[in-house]
Amino acid sequence: MHAPLVPRYWADQGVERVLIDEGSINRRVQELGRELAAQFHDGREVVLVAVLTGAVVFVADLMRAIPTRVKISMVSVASYGASTTSQGAVLASALPSNIQGKHVILVDEILDSGGTIRLVRDRLNANGAASVQACVLLRKQRPQALETPCELVGFDIPDVFVVGYGLDFNDEFRNMPFVGVLGEAAIRARSNS
Ligand code: 5GP
Ligand code: MG
Repeated sequence: MHAPLVPRYWADQGVERVLIDEGSINRRVQELGRELAAQFHDGREVVLVAVLTGAVVFVADLMRAIPTRVKISMVSVASYGASTTSQGAVLASALPSNIQGKHVILVDEILDSGGTIRLVRDRLNANGAASVQACVLLRKQRPQALETPCELVGFDIPDVFVVGYGLDFNDEFRNMPFVGVLGEAAIRARSNS
């Protein structure tokens, strides 16, 4: 099978290849939604807690793929470290107040070092969630990611820096509708701006 071509505009921005196209993302998100709906069809209340800002695109699609009773909340996590790697995570907002006794699905777009998922999961548990499951669209094939407990994974991907479908570089590319790989030259060129 041929990899789909990078659309002209995104190629001009330095995107070198399509890793996961729109159709594949959509099909997988529908499957994840069906899996969650099957677990919670009994009417137990579920809260999706999405990590800002990267998970907004994923959670917007995922929530519409779950035809059961769900509420949505957001949490903000700051990662520090160089711009294409993350070395630590701290909460940058209060936890949602509506999770006490609820079944929480922690939604993030990518599992990399695992710092974000571990931090937020611990805090949700400490704040009285009845259960917590993590759901990520992407998981990188690196030891730290694979060792981090995560109940629902959309795609396992190589350990490369990706953008699109909510994932940014310097806050750009979140609106790109597929997941792609940004070239080294584009990363260098945008690192200073
Ligand atoms: P972790 O805490 O698992 O190391 O990383 C989670 C956060 O790091 C993600 O929510 C995302 O914001 C950022 N991140 C990790 N890998 C990538 C990547 O390949 N591309 C982009 N754009 N962000 C990433
Ligand atoms: Mg993030």
